[in-house]
Amino acid sequence: ANNDPVSRPVLKSAKLANVCYDIRGPVMARAKQMEEEGHRIIKLNIGNLAPFGFDAPEEIQQDVIFNLPNSSGYSDSKGLFAARKAIMHYTQQKGIKGVGLEDIFIGNGASELIVMAMQGLLNTGDEVLVPAPDYPLWTAAVTLAGGTARHYICDEANEWMPDLADIRSKITPNTRAIVIINPNNPTGALYSDALLHDIIQIAREHNLIIFADEIYDKMLYDAAMHTSIASLADDVLFVTLNGLSKNYRACGYRSGWMVVSGNKKPAQDYIDGLTILASMRLCSNVPGQYAIQTALGGYQSINDLVAPGGRLAKQRDLAYKLLTEIPGVTCVKPKAALYLFPKLDPKMYPIEDDQKFILELLETEKVLVVQGSGFNWKSPDHLRIVFLPNSDDLTDAISRIARFLESYRKR
Ligand code: PLP
Repeated sequence: ANNDPVSRPVLKSAKLANVCYDIRGPVMARAKQMEEEGHRIIKLNIGNLAPFGFDAPEEIQQDVIFNLPNSSGYSDSKGLFAARKAIMHYTQQKGIKGVGLEDIFIGNGASELIVMAMQGLLNTGDEVLVPAPDYPLWTAAVTLAGGTARHYICDEANEWMPDLADIRSKITPNTRAIVIINPNNPTGALYSDALLHDIIQIAREHNLIIFADEIYDKMLYDAAMHTSIASLADDVLFVTLNGLSKNYRACGYRSGWMVVSGNKKPAQDYIDGLTILASMRLCSNVPGQYAIQTALGGYQSINDLVAPGGRLAKQRDLAYKLLTEIPGVTCVKPKAALYLFPKLDPKMYPIEDDQKFILELLETEKVLVVQGSGFNWKSPDHLRIVFLPNSDDLTDAISRIARFLESYRKR
């Protein structure tokens, strides 16, 4: 052992050994460096809306400004009364029954609450069913909490629906919970009520908690409807997550919430644990909490962006069309959210290391995307494309991707 205090390396905790979050990983660091060198990078990598001209609605901004003088103190650990009341009302609108103020936790984005929910639940060896592909924070949060993420497959041939047989095959006596991300990041899938009922049935049979990440529940195209899985049963324990980041274009406000519902009685000890964790961090960002009531009430401007002819709907259609015109690129058209998750035919594009592949794309064409393996997708044959840039930039970026792929085919 090296005991020299000057040269002894400072190592990160072993808890972080298998924790990974590639969306902001090494390739993004390289893109930043290239920008500092003066290159213009077209970014299709992060679902951060404001830099692309999607700002939080004016009324929300004004409400936060108005309330800033009242925001200097800590709030209740679970959140401001009025904000939680508004969230309670929202759960009622979505048909989730029996939610009281005490069942609602406000956090610094859904992200903090995802980590908290896993820290409060898991012991070493506990398993959680997480989709593949997933939003990688879920796998990271399970791992950091000492649990094991068991990935169930979402089936690209079936519009990226969770494969129920695969879910069943991965349940063990240690399985505590199942995560569903609906609408889905990265696939843009939206689940039918019939599928949600099937997942509830599995949870019922195996006594699993259902964690439902519904942060894109208003970003729906083609007049689609979203059902909160927690509205479909009351004999299973549900934890539903949502927030202002996406539906209200307020990623930077760090304002999200978590609602416990369904069969709460046997879960009192877990809920107590969540309360302890919420208390330990005192409270979530108070100005961000002030935005919640105004956001959830009244006019929902997101509807204009996702309706046919709305900016997000147009960009989805354009990106889908241009990508699927590239030889060997196929894609399930997203029904929701902000992302496309195209497949590159492995015969035409024999990629071995998809992180290396997107780094090359970045360096050659100055376009930044995220590799499929960043979403716990096991084969190196997918990319995630964010369709937030305006139509000109999307057209430019996808034509650069097409040019890169053409040169790749000729290798
Ligand atoms: N869940 C999903 C599926 C996401 O895509 C994101 C952000 O991209 C989050 C949660 C985190 O959201 P927040 O900004 O509320 O922390």
